[in-house]
Order: sequence, then C-alpha cells, then structure tokens
Amino acid sequence: MTTAKPCPCLIGGRWNQAQTERFDDIWNPSTGEAIGKTPLCTAADVDHAVQAAKKAFPAWRETPVTDRARIMFRFQEILTRHADDVARICSLEHGKTLAESRASVQRGIEMIEFACGIPSLYTGDIVENLAPSVDSETVRHPLGVVAGITPFNFPAMVPLWMYPVALTCGNCFILKPSPRVPLSSVRIGELLLEAGIPEGVFSIVHGDKECVDALLTHPDIRAISFVGSTKIAKYIYETGTAHGKRVQAAGGAKNHIIIMPDADMAPTIGGLINSAFGCAGERCMAGSLAIPVGNVADEVVGRLCERGQKMKVGRTDRGDDVDMGPVISRPHLERVRGYLEIAEKEGAKVALDGRKITVADGPNGYFLGPTVIDHVRPEMRVAKEEIFGPVLAVTRVNSLDEAFELGQQCEYGNGAVIFTRSGRAAREFKHRFNAGMIGINVGVPAPMAWFPFTGWNRSFFGDLHIQGKEGIAFYTQQRMTLTRWFEPAQVDKHDPVWRPGKS
Ligand code: NAD
Repeated sequence: MTTAKPCPCLIGGRWNQAQTERFDDIWNPSTGEAIGKTPLCTAADVDHAVQAAKKAFPAWRETPVTDRARIMFRFQEILTRHADDVARICSLEHGKTLAESRASVQRGIEMIEFACGIPSLYTGDIVENLAPSVDSETVRHPLGVVAGITPFNFPAMVPLWMYPVALTCGNCFILKPSPRVPLSSVRIGELLLEAGIPEGVFSIVHGDKECVDALLTHPDIRAISFVGSTKIAKYIYETGTAHGKRVQAAGGAKNHIIIMPDADMAPTIGGLINSAFGCAGERCMAGSLAIPVGNVADEVVGRLCERGQKMKVGRTDRGDDVDMGPVISRPHLERVRGYLEIAEKEGAKVALDGRKITVADGPNGYFLGPTVIDHVRPEMRVAKEEIFGPVLAVTRVNSLDEAFELGQQCEYGNGAVIFTRSGRAAREFKHRFNAGMIGINVGVPAPMAWFPFTGWNRSFFGDLHIQGKEGIAFYTQQRMTLTRWFEPAQVDKHDPVWRPGKS
C-alpha cells in the first residue's frame, strides 16, 4: 500500500480531494509496485461535480461554437507539446510500450483536431417555401451535463474520443476514468485547464460501481458515453436509459482475422503480430482468432511462432525499447494464463507458450509472452470468449464460407480482417462478414477520429456511435422551427387558413 496522496478530482475548475473513505491502489504493471491511490468517489462527490457543471452550463451553451473551438485549438497545441510526457505516464500506469502510448496519444490529439472543425459540422437544415411563405429549419443545441465512463486499456485516447466533441458541442462533461489508470486523465485535465476551459465545464471524478451508479441515476445528467466490457456496457445501457438518459455503450470483442491462401505472407504475418500482440492484446480491436483458409495454415502458424518468439518483452515504465509490455494487473494475468490451461484441457495445442518468458529486471511484473494456440475448434472457449491478452487462437478452415459461418456464430461484432490479393474475396468479405469494422489487408481497422467506431451485436449498445459525425449527433439535440411571414395582402384578407375558429 503506497502512502502517496490520492489522485485528485477536478470539480468547479479546482483540484479537490474526494470525500471518501475508500481507495484503490494504482499499480505499475512492469514491477508490481503500487504507485498511487485512486479515490472511490461517493454519490455526494458526483453530485458536487454535477452541481458545478450545471452552474457552468448556461454561459458555456451561449459561448459561440467558434470560441469553444478556439479552446480546442489551444488544447491541441498544448497536448501536442506535452504528448511525450503524457505517453510516459500512460506507459507507467498501463504497461503499453512507449511507442504504443505515443501513438495512442496521437489518436487522441486527432479527436481534438476533429473537434476544432465542429463549427462547420454544427449546422442544421433549412427548406424555404415548404408551403406558400412557410420555411422550416433545424438547428443544434447541446444536451446539458453529460458524462463519460472509460476502460483501462487506453488511458488517454478513449476519454479523448468523448470530451473534445461533447465540450465543443456546448455540453459540460464529467469524466470517470478507470480507477486502474487515472493519472493520464489527471495530467490531460491540467492541460485542458491551461487551454482555458472555464471552471465547471470539464470535471473528473474517480471510482468504481458506486460512483458509476451515481452518474447513471443522477437526474441532471442527460447522456452517458461508456467504453468497457460487454457485461458492464449492457448494464450501463439498461440502467442509463431506464433513468431517461441517452446512452452509447461500447463493449468487448472477439475479432476474427481471415488469411486467404493468396495473401502476401510477409505483411500478413506483420499485420497479425501487431494485431494480436500489440498493446499486449489489450485492444478492443485486437485480432484474437486467426482463421487460415486452406493449405496456408501450417505456414501461417510456423511464421507466427517464429516472429512471436523473437519479440522482446519487458518493462515499459522507464521507456525501455521493447516490443511488448505487461498486462494490466496480477488478477488479469492469472485470468489470461487460465485460458491457456482451458485450451489445453479442451484439446487445443499451445504452439507458442508465453508462460515460458521471464523478465529479469521485472520479476514481479505482470508479463506473459506472445502466445499462439493452434487447432482451436469453434466450440472451444478460446475461440469464443474475449481473452484480452497476448493470445492468438488459430482455427483452420477449408473455405471462406466456413469463415463467414464462424463470424455468424460470434456474439460480438467489433472488427474483422481479411488478408488477400483477391478483390472478389475482399468485396464479398466487406459485404457479408458479421462485424461493424472491416480491415482489408489492415490488421487493426480502428477508425480514426473522422469516422464512427461502429461495433455491432454485443460490442455496442445504443444507436449513435462514438467518434465522427455520429458523435456530434449524440451530443446534440435538434430543434425544428416552422416560420410563416404574412404578406400584407393576406393580413388584409384575414387569411382563411389562419382565421380563428375555422377548423
Ligand atoms: P470494465 O467494463 O471492467 O470497466 C470499464 C469502466 O466501467 C471502468 O470505468 C470501471 O470502473 C467501470 N465498471 C467496472 N465494473 C463496474 C460495475 N460493476 N458497475 C459499474 N461500473 C463498472 O472494462 P475494462 O476491464 O476497464 O476494459 C476492458 C474492456 O473494454 C474490454 O472488454 C475491451 O474490449 C473493452 N473496450 C471496448 C472498446 C470499444 O470501443 N468497443 C474500446 C476499449 C475497450
């Protein structure tokens, strides 16, 4: 247990300590040492943040969208200047390599750049003369106070999917980051204050279920954005909507990667390695089931094992030059290792065993090396469940149709990838596969800021997805106005349409 001060909440433009008796440790996954404490906020802390946001909302709503965007331009410049500093915090508390953290901060910066362009997307529609002298128009209004609840796996990027857009649309935003990785959000919050966000417009509270439930049920919160596991996403969607809120809730995934016999093998193996083992497999877009079609399977598995074995696994808290870091926590490491035992019991073959690696200068870190499990049958748990670690299962099939069938059986629907040189196979795949984000010769088809994160099935609950123009639609409500200006002649004649008492 560390004696470090708990990380602060941001409420009413000031950094405060939460009014709570409960705390979680924050661990350095590279060493297994506690590096800080997360306060687990109470309903009273949440209410405090909501009241500050409510007070700030009227002035923020009336601030011209161009002025709100100008704050985002400054935020973009300040975060770009401090990107390396934020990336190092992200690697320390999460365990991503420094290169991965830098890339994820860059994706977050792109969300701010998208938000800088909101003035030209914040438009409504108008049609003149829908009837004689009658015009109709829509304009966008912010919702009010909205909240975001985020997972551990992208400490900087996922929160940035939400608040630059929500704020520029004129809402006040309360962020509740994962209690395992709150430090990146606190640092970025400092930078947003430096950029000039008015007090109360952006808040941070920390916590677990108690804090989340207080957000979900608070009568003054209009909308909830959530990213996390499917079980919790469903709970958030059901509870939030039952309390009258607009909810977008992105959940877990089991992403399939199909390798056709005609695929260009070197880039395909590179794409598979990055997709399965990048960020230690802790990506909702990680490829976790490889599906080689036909006689290419032995070559794919052989090359994967060869490349995976050469990957350097090590500490990420000092910015070491490694290919893969630890997973997030000791219980998560045990859970992921447990899947290897389950697979062996069910009859699959561990072709590359990540349990064999040791990290000399991180003996207590949460390390598992790249792992490949071959001969996985569709009914096995490793073929169906989200493992969220550096584990790639391989299910061999004889045709693309068999691969489509596996896609149909999957309860998730985030991403799916095909490696091929055939335009026909790629087109068929894009048109038919049961997933919302498709990669063609791209291992991790995660949409960039300008496009929505379109998970399907149990990978998403709600209607409007996070990011892109759907993000703007989610954080705004439209108002329609119907206008009629009378011609003097009509007024004189007591226009029969409008004469009182006439039906
Ligand atoms: P999680 O569901 O455990 O936690 C997400 C958030 O919910 C956290 O802020 C956490 O504090 C809160 N939470 C946890 N348990 C809760 C409960 N019982 N009641 C209320 N709130 C609760 O997810 P995680 O382990 O932090 O993140 C990993 C998961 O996130 C994976 O399943 C991954 O696929 C998913 N993810 C999805 C996307 C996407 O876009 N679909 C992106 C990133 C991560």
